[in-house]
Amino acid sequence: MHEETTVQQASDAATGTTTGAATVERLRATFRTGRTRPLEWRRRQLRALRALLTEQGGVFTEALRADLGKSPVETHSSELSFVVNEIDHTLRHLERWLRPRRVPVPATLLPARARTMLEPLGVVLIIAPWNYPVQLSLAPLVGALAAGDCAVLKPSEVAPASSAALARLLPEYLDGDAVAVVEGGVPETTDLLEQRFDHVFYTGNGTVGRIVMAAAARHLTPVTLELGGKSPVLVEAGTDLAAAARRIAWGRFFNAGQSCTSPDYVLAIGDVAPELEKHLAAAVEEMYGSDPQRSPDYGRIVNERHFDRVAALLDSGRVVVGGRTDRGDRYIAPTVLADVAPDAPVMREEIFGPVLPVLRVPDLDAALAFVNERDKPLALYAFTGSEETRRRVLTETSSGAVGFGLPNAHLTVPGLPFGGVGESGLGAYHGRLSVETFSHAKAVLDKPLAPDTVRVVYPPFGKVKERVIRRFM
Ligand code: NAD
Repeated sequence: MHEETTVQQASDAATGTTTGAATVERLRATFRTGRTRPLEWRRRQLRALRALLTEQGGVFTEALRADLGKSPVETHSSELSFVVNEIDHTLRHLERWLRPRRVPVPATLLPARARTMLEPLGVVLIIAPWNYPVQLSLAPLVGALAAGDCAVLKPSEVAPASSAALARLLPEYLDGDAVAVVEGGVPETTDLLEQRFDHVFYTGNGTVGRIVMAAAARHLTPVTLELGGKSPVLVEAGTDLAAAARRIAWGRFFNAGQSCTSPDYVLAIGDVAPELEKHLAAAVEEMYGSDPQRSPDYGRIVNERHFDRVAALLDSGRVVVGGRTDRGDRYIAPTVLADVAPDAPVMREEIFGPVLPVLRVPDLDAALAFVNERDKPLALYAFTGSEETRRRVLTETSSGAVGFGLPNAHLTVPGLPFGGVGESGLGAYHGRLSVETFSHAKAVLDKPLAPDTVRVVYPPFGKVKERVIRRFM
C-alpha cells in the first residue's frame, strides 16, 4: 500500500540540506491542518504500517540478520509479529479508547456534565535503540499514530541496516507529511533535541536518558524514558529447577542476551545453586547444541565495542558452560558463571550480553535485601513454589514488572503497562497506555446557564450565602 507519495527523507546528515527544525516545522504544518485527527486517518496509517510489516518482512529479516545475526524466527516473534499484534489490538479497541469518559459531577455543581477526552499532542519524537530496532521504533509509533500525532522517528545508528530499512520503507507506506525518519547518531539526535516537540519517547540507556530529559526540559516537553538495568531472578527450592533453568536460559540468551528485560543475574537461594547450574548448562546445550556458534538460532553481539565490553566480564566467576569468544564473528557463547561475588565486574553494570552470573544467597531475606540495595530493576523474576514468597516479592520490592515463572513475556500482554521505575525508566506504554501516553487527557465541564445554581457563590456574601457555602462546599 503506497498511500501518499509526496514523501521525502526527512534529513540528510551528509549534505545537511534539511535540518531537524525544517522537519519539525513541516510536520507541525500538517498537524495544524487537522488531517491527523480523524479516526479514519489513524486507522489508515495503522493498516499501512501493518502492510509494511507483512509485505516487507523479508527486508527486515535480512537487516536484522546483518545487524545482530538475529534468527528469522526471533525476528518474526520479537520484532515483526510483535508490532502486528500491537496494531491489531489497537485497531480493535481504538474507537472505544477514544470515546470521551464520563466523570461524576459533585452535587454542588449539578446540573452539569463532566468528561475527559483524549486529544493528540502534536509532533512527537521517538528515539529508538539498536537491540530490537524494528519493535522499539514501531511499537511507540503505533501509539503516536493511534493518538493522531505527527511523529519523527530516530532509529539507532548502531543497527545501520535496520535503520536504513526503516528510513527507506516507512515513507513509502505512511503519510509522509506526518511521519519522518531521521537517521543518524549523536549530532543528528542532538539537533532534533534542540527542537520543540510535544512529547519525547526515548528507549535506551540511562545516561542518554538524562541528556534527553534535560533537553526536553528546555521546552517543558514531557518525556517517556524506557531504560534498562539489572533484572534479577530469584530461584528457591521447591520449584522444578530443570523447567526453571530452561525458562531462564531462554530469557537470557534470546537475542544473544541483548534484551532490556532479560534476566541479568540469578540469586540462588539456600542450596539450589549446584543443581540449578547443572540444569542451566543442560538447557543451553539443548537449545543451541554443543557448539552454539554453529546454531542458526543464536545471535551475535551488535558491534566490536559491545563485544569487548561483554567479553571483559567473562572472568567474573567460574565458567559452568560457554566462555568461548570469537571477535571476528562478534560471537560470545551463551555463558553461565558460578561463584560470582556481589562486587565482581559482571555485577557492576547491566550485562546486556549472553552472560548469566549465579550468586548464592542464604535465604529469601538476603535475596530481597540484595535487590533492594540496588537500583529498581526493569523486571524482577522469581521461580518459587511458595505463595508467601510471591507475596513478599510483590510487596517488599519495587520494579517495572514482576514475572513469576517466565521472563520477558509480560511485555507481550498488551493490557500490561511496559515501563520502568526509578533508574529503569519513567512512564510506560503498550496497548491503551500507548494512546494515552501520546495524548493529552483534556478535562471538560459543561454546565447550562439556567438554572443559575452558581449564584450562591457570587459576592456579596451575606449571612445566608455564607452558611450555605460553609455547609455544602
Ligand atoms: P543506542 O546506543 O542505540 O542509543 C539509543 C538511542 O540514543 C539511539 O537512537 C542513539 O542514536 C541515541 N543517542 C546515543 N547517544 C546519544 C547522545 N549523546 N545524545 C542524544 N542521543 C543519543 O542504545 P543503547 O542505549 O545502547 O541501548 C541499550 C540500553 O537500552 C540498555 O540499557 C537497555 O536495557 C535499554 N533498553 C531499554 C528498553 C526498554 O524498553 N525499557 C528496550 C531496549 C533497550
